[in-house]
Amino acid sequence: MKNLKPILLAFMVTLLFACNKDSDNTDNLSNEFDKRINRSLADIDVNIINSGRGADVESWMAAINESISGSGIELGVVEYYGADGAGNTVFFNNRGNKQLGHDFVPGDIRRGGFTDIAYARDGTEGATSSGLTQAQTDGAILNAMTTWDNVTCSSGLVLNNLGSSPFDLGYVEALVTGGAHGAFVFTDLMHSGFNTTVTDAIFGPGSNVLGVTFTFWWIDGSGDPTDIDNNGKADVAFRDIYYNDSFFWAIGSNIDVETVALHEAGHGLSQGHFGKLFRSNGNGKFHFAPRAVMNAGYTGVQTTIGATDNAGHCSNWGQWPNN
Ligand SMILES: [Zn+2]
Repeated sequence: MKNLKPILLAFMVTLLFACNKDSDNTDNLSNEFDKRINRSLADIDVNIINSGRGADVESWMAAINESISGSGIELGVVEYYGADGAGNTVFFNNRGNKQLGHDFVPGDIRRGGFTDIAYARDGTEGATSSGLTQAQTDGAILNAMTTWDNVTCSSGLVLNNLGSSPFDLGYVEALVTGGAHGAFVFTDLMHSGFNTTVTDAIFGPGSNVLGVTFTFWWIDGSGDPTDIDNNGKADVAFRDIYYNDSFFWAIGSNIDVETVALHEAGHGLSQGHFGKLFRSNGNGKFHFAPRAVMNAGYTGVQTTIGATDNAGHCSNWGQWPNN
């Protein structure tokens, strides 16, 4: 259905689905997970968008948004992390909203009225092709979430760990495969697994993209991003994170899962890219200054956050949930 649904109706449908969820294949699914998974967009028209558009991220985003028009959300930002050199940030800018800030609204009724930030991990797509167990990749992602959770300025922020999914998580993954993989469900912040499906669809096979975060924001009846708390930033619906499984992933050495998860989770918690990229004369290697988790490119194992990362997090979350 492409007809615009009023927000209230979408919310009621969400509750209805949550109440009627069948119990098949949900042995590992906690009640909390089920309660926080939003199914209101499961009836959108599905187009298969896997054309391998290479670097043409903006036109790929336009195709994604065409396919979900009328759903009340829009893919607003794609932030990707480079294995060598710089990643980038691409805004969906067909209405001149380039560089639009974006954050969650505390108590947003469209996200169920919660003031915590729920997160889930894909329990089916670890970096197993690199020889890691699901438990190892999942543990590294959990470590990254704990690192952000331990920042002391944001004591009002509760990161609600919903657990790992017993099904293939991933909203964008579902969009690019026509529903064959992933799932048309979402919660606030999703680590949607290691695969090549999503990164290949946008950046093409063999890209240098290690990880990517998709930010979906709510739009109004005119198709414009909403700002119901009047803070000058678009209201985030959810964020969906992927890891490119064509790389060799490791624990504590290159390419380190926790380091990349820490960066992507930073996007999940509303931080943008930071720092300037330099190439040194001698060895041609890339460097960032100042070095930070939120640099746009991977420069080695980095599992503690830097001063600029901390400052960015505090500006976003220091007043939460009162902003
Ligand atoms: Zn990034």
